[in-house]
Amino acid sequence: MLDIGAKDALDADFDVVVIGGGVNGTGIALDAAGRGLKVLLCEMNDLGGATSSASSKLIHGGLRYLEQYDFGLVRKALKERERLLRNAPHIMRPLRFRLPHRPHLRPAWMIRAGLFLYDNLARRLVSGPSHAIRFREKSPLKREMHCGYEYSDGWVDDARLVVLLARGAKALGAEIHPRTKCIAARREAGIWLVTLRNQQTGEVLTRSCRTLVNATGPWVESLFREVIDSSSPHSIRLVKGSHIVVPRLHDAPEAYILQNQDGRIVFVIPFEDVYSLVGTTDVDFDGDATDVAISRDEIDYLLSVINAHFMTQTTSNEIVWSYSGVRPLMDDDTTKAQMASRDYELELDVGQAGNEAPLLSVFGGKITTYRILSEAAVDHLRGTFPGMGERWTARNPLPGGAIESIDAFKAELEASYSWLPNKMLSRFARSYGTLCHQFLSGCQSLDDLGQHIGDTLYEAEVRYLVELEWARTSEDILWRRSKLGLHLTLKEIAVLEQILESILLQKTPYD
Ligand SMILES: Cc1cc2nc3c(=O)[nH]c(=O)nc-3n(C[C@H](O)[C@H](O)[C@H](O)COP(=O)(O)OP(=O)(O)OC[C@H]3O[C@@H](n4cnc5c(N)ncnc54)[C@H](O)[C@@H]3O)c2cc1C
Repeated sequence: MLDIGAKDALDADFDVVVIGGGVNGTGIALDAAGRGLKVLLCEMNDLGGATSSASSKLIHGGLRYLEQYDFGLVRKALKERERLLRNAPHIMRPLRFRLPHRPHLRPAWMIRAGLFLYDNLARRLVSGPSHAIRFREKSPLKREMHCGYEYSDGWVDDARLVVLLARGAKALGAEIHPRTKCIAARREAGIWLVTLRNQQTGEVLTRSCRTLVNATGPWVESLFREVIDSSSPHSIRLVKGSHIVVPRLHDAPEAYILQNQDGRIVFVIPFEDVYSLVGTTDVDFDGDATDVAISRDEIDYLLSVINAHFMTQTTSNEIVWSYSGVRPLMDDDTTKAQMASRDYELELDVGQAGNEAPLLSVFGGKITTYRILSEAAVDHLRGTFPGMGERWTARNPLPGGAIESIDAFKAELEASYSWLPNKMLSRFARSYGTLCHQFLSGCQSLDDLGQHIGDTLYEAEVRYLVELEWARTSEDILWRRSKLGLHLTLKEIAVLEQILESILLQKTPYD
């Protein structure tokens, strides 16, 4: 263990054990490892397998939170938006939004005032300003919508963000254990004893640590009850949100933000070239968060909103994919699910005596605020580790993200791998940034990438994903490390599964 100035010379395996491999857990693991702490992270399923791969994938201030007077959250999130767009230009990009104006829903002055605030609450470095627009003949919207507004926000590949955070943490010495569930944790003699079960082999092992972090998102409250055997200091409100993916509703690069009669908004975002991502819903949820799926009512709701706005009419038969997640929101006693605050709270518990091994718990949060949340979380541990490093993540690129711009990087890739088809080059640049050299380097032609599986997927990438990004199943590869699930046939998926099996046979479960 590094000498980080710990108060007592307690002998523990780790400084910090983080439970939960979503965006917040991996963000905290990265931040802590970068400050010199010895970290272990456990995730019961795949990294990012829960809420953090089921978001609307927006790095945004949240225009609609202004209506709830949540200015603090919007300002914080807008500041972060600019930072993140700079630090991860491969998996994130600025995105323009078009907001059709429907005067009976929100008056023009209110939208203009909101956009003025949105433009000015934080300094814009990457994103452009808002302005009014007219929808002309070629508009994909119904004719009655002839004017509106345009403003900037950001897009992120949420599932890849989580994996890159884990890669960053590992590069700084953290141990990352996906498919490993924390089944018990108790304080003993000033440290935590944490029992972990490997979900694949059933093997159980115990590790000790100085501090424990509960970053289990929707499970934050149940972890107290079922794993730590204590009671949670806050209640969490679980709110399900679903998305559908349909054939592209329009050709333009902009996203649309549609206002519905019920006061809610629905995003229509260009997705994987030929599709539109439509979401989301807000439905109170009291089931098992590992088993969440879109309902018929949610499908009908989303279709009714897009069909009320777009000339192209979409039916449920055209839905190619849907996904659902559960927001772990702070329970602030608001009646409507969509009104519950998206802000977060960190709770540090040092036991009844006031000097026991710390437990830090994360309640709420957004993808957009993961970095400042992680920074604040690790700051909370300074009492235990007075000598740990200073804040460092604000100006550091994420793994693969040390590039000038995505276009400059694509040009670089084109020069180095002139044989690479444009579609592959663009996907690799956007998904991996400079990390794609790890499976492309030394290759002279497509043949060098091994067996072709389908679409732009070859064996070399699968091998990389298994060896360096913890992928174990076809689902990890097709729906989280990439969205190739939208482009591969069942026959091609069967080929992928065969290749995966043979790669995995060469590995032990802990590799
Ligand atoms: C529909 C929807 C749309 C959203 N859109 C946006 C958006 O556009 N922009 C934005 O900024 N935010 C958005 N959010 C919010 C954002 O997705 C979440 O706030 C964020 O992903 C929460 O991350 P997390 O790490 O706290 O939780 P999670 O990602 O759920 O991670 C918690 C992890 O803990 C693991 N775990 C639980 N118990 C254990 C255990 N005992 N042992 C080991 N592991 C365990 C779980 O398997 C899980 O992977 C959206 C959320 C939803 C649901």
